[in-house]
Amino acid sequence: MKRQSTALISCLAALCIVALMLSACGSGQRQASSSASPNPAAIASSASSSAAPSNSSSGSNSTSLVDKARSLNGVSSVAPSSRPDVASEDALRAQLNIEEYVHPELDHGDKSAPYQKYIVLHDTEGNADGHGVIDGWLNDGRFIASHFIINKDGSIVQAVPIDRIGHHAGYGNTGHNEQYGVTDESRDDMRGAKPIGDWASDYGMNSHSVGIEIVHEGNDEYPEAQLAALDGLIAYIDAHYDFESTIIDHKMWRSGNSDTSDAFSGYLANYRDHRTHV
Ligand SMILES: [Zn+2]
Repeated sequence: MKRQSTALISCLAALCIVALMLSACGSGQRQASSSASPNPAAIASSASSSAAPSNSSSGSNSTSLVDKARSLNGVSSVAPSSRPDVASEDALRAQLNIEEYVHPELDHGDKSAPYQKYIVLHDTEGNADGHGVIDGWLNDGRFIASHFIINKDGSIVQAVPIDRIGHHAGYGNTGHNEQYGVTDESRDDMRGAKPIGDWASDYGMNSHSVGIEIVHEGNDEYPEAQLAALDGLIAYIDAHYDFESTIIDHKMWRSGNSDTSDAFSGYLANYRDHRTHV
């Protein structure tokens, strides 16, 4: 009885050791697999599969458009996970009702992706539509222009290509070039620019921004269609550059300026916080 129980205990002990070894091995495998799952390759694979269009036949077309955009933007090396989503950019632009009314004399130099930093919002401070606003700039002789003007009905007119410099922000407070990180004014031809005083001697914002005019006067309400168009236009600009430019209004660049209006202040706070008006 004693010998049998001793043998039984030895047998049970051996089984326990085997069970423990198997258990340790199993948990080791689980640890290895759980620590391996969030690796960069898995994330990239997951990201690319979620970002890829559901229609696989458009994949090769999408790749060639990406390469085209990269060469146009002068981007020589972009990691796969941060490539511009050109399909998204084109789709976002197509959703907007943008009419090009582009004039070479309003183009003041190169502002491709490496230089882009800000989206500057303006009010036109009048009720003329986009065409009328641009005709006014052309007749003015100072070669002023924002890139886009948004009409009250949500339609958009484009005066300057997005990757070119437009003269919309003008001179800002002395010291703002440094404060906003826009000290390089060398790409701007400065055609038509007239200094406004020692208090506002900095001119770097135009070289690093896209300007958007909102057709608006006084403290009028902003129509929903116009604000929805601005939401879409900002999304399109973000997709074009593949990063979110900082959103400011004109009076942040030049203190004492009147645009944007007080009626826009709540929307501006929303745009700066999460890029839509609501
Ligand atoms: Zn302005």
